[in-house]
Amino acid sequence: MSGTPDTDVVVAGGGPVGLQLAYELGLAGVRVTVLEREPDRPPHARAWGLHARTVETLDRRGLLDGVLDERARWPKMPFAGLWPLLDLTALRSDHPYLANLPQSTLEELLEDRVRGQGTEVRRGHELVGLADDGDGVTVTVRAGGGAYRLRGRFLVGCDGGRSTVRGLAGIDFPGTDPTVAAMLCDCTLPTMADERRGITRTETGTVNINPRPTGVVRVVVTEYHRTHADRDAPVDVDEFRASVRRVLGRDLAITEPRWLTRFSDTTRQADRYRQGRVLLAGDAAHVHFPYGGLGLNLGLQDAVNLGWKLAAAVAGWAPAGLLDSYQAERHPVAAWTLEHSRAQLALFKPDPDVTALRALFADLLALPDLNRHLAELITGVATRYPLGGEDPHHPAVGGFAPDLRVKTIDGPTGLARLMRTGRGLLLDMTGGSAFIGASAAWSGRVDVIPALPDQPPPYGAVLVRPDGYVAWAAPPVADVTNGRDAAALRTALVTWFGPPASG
Ligand SMILES: Cc1cc2nc3c(=O)[nH]c(=O)nc-3n(C[C@H](O)[C@H](O)[C@H](O)COP(=O)(O)OP(=O)(O)OC[C@H]3O[C@@H](n4cnc5c(N)ncnc54)[C@H](O)[C@@H]3O)c2cc1C
Repeated sequence: MSGTPDTDVVVAGGGPVGLQLAYELGLAGVRVTVLEREPDRPPHARAWGLHARTVETLDRRGLLDGVLDERARWPKMPFAGLWPLLDLTALRSDHPYLANLPQSTLEELLEDRVRGQGTEVRRGHELVGLADDGDGVTVTVRAGGGAYRLRGRFLVGCDGGRSTVRGLAGIDFPGTDPTVAAMLCDCTLPTMADERRGITRTETGTVNINPRPTGVVRVVVTEYHRTHADRDAPVDVDEFRASVRRVLGRDLAITEPRWLTRFSDTTRQADRYRQGRVLLAGDAAHVHFPYGGLGLNLGLQDAVNLGWKLAAAVAGWAPAGLLDSYQAERHPVAAWTLEHSRAQLALFKPDPDVTALRALFADLLALPDLNRHLAELITGVATRYPLGGEDPHHPAVGGFAPDLRVKTIDGPTGLARLMRTGRGLLLDMTGGSAFIGASAAWSGRVDVIPALPDQPPPYGAVLVRPDGYVAWAAPPVADVTNGRDAAALRTALVTWFGPPASG
């Protein structure tokens, strides 16, 4: 089937990443259809934490307004179960904390926003086939005992670690097989007051006990010398208890098990994120052990990186290479994350050599600069993209734009709030009009806003991509009107927002 598309983008998978991507596309006015295999959203939450860069990113969409109170902002987080903890208050971030938000709450919030944009989220609809003919992608969908076809200009597989889209598109998923057997149980633990919180490491594995603010206790057991015979077999509470007993050498008084599941340290990454008109994001593109709490964060940032680029391709103004910059920017970040989760898992291995390494790491974590360095890597705050090539023109280029407080013609506001449109932003704080005039031809794709900063800003003017990263900046005050800055601005506008609109 070819011909007129039914929709611009088919998103396979209505998990957090698919919904975030749908939201980004919806902001740009792209027609999206989300296909979700499950008829209902799962009641349990896999992830519970959003790292600083994710919070910064979602804040630039207003998605967390009124969601996080002070109790949900944790100033510290563990690294490999070592002491001292990572001090998040030292992060160079607008949001220096770990946000305690269940994945299920985030999914609900995103689905409400997406439906509010008029996007169709088809629950109980499973993608089972695809054909990319170069002009569009026709997918086969199984639903309600029958099947139908749906044609989009692009398809994005946000359908999780065992992605059907990835398989059908012929994208390889190289990596390593499981070496450990892990299980999770959300339960009531009447002895919680007497239990050691956090991770206990023994000669066979680890047990992690974490009481949640809801009163439910999450217990995770990991055994190092075995793997699951059947990764899909349901977990019986007796199997879980037995595993805990093998690791702890005693029983845990688990009652009221609410959710039991098994997982492993399978670590894989798609060898490419794009095949023609088919793209991958989130767990469909990368899987790893959940130590560090990185998977959800990684996937949400994939979605925000990809959304505006795909919207530009749909709208027809995407400059050459824009869509491929998604893989160029995000593949290395995921590759690092996979290595990081391996490193954390290795630091728990029951082995005397590892015990010695742990002592060394604990010493290093006590050094404030090192502690912050590691925290900035894990929380994504250290993430930069090589946006300016070899000569980035200004040191801010490639980094994430902080939430500068400014006054505009509409009153006091901040850079984060100005980014809620999901468009590019040119914020000119020079008091002149040179940069405003130079960017006028892009005003359909970039919000061009003159402003007065509350504090001396790190730059006189800044061009921010919709994902929050700086594409161009001019130094503050003195030499703002020189021709080199204006020429670099034009280059950045053409690179990221296409040729100037005519007329
Ligand atoms: C035990 C555990 C704990 C975790 N803890 C954390 C943590 O603390 N922090 C963190 O950041 N990450 C954590 N993660 C990882 C995190 O949960 C995932 O990275 C995240 O869910 C990925 O989101 P996603 O949307 O890419 O995929 P998923 O959440 O897997 O969503 C994919 C969706 O696609 C649907 N689907 C699948 N196939 C099809 C199809 N053919 N057609 C239509 N729909 C389909 C599925 O039903 C599902 O709804 C944890 C993971 C596990 C297993």
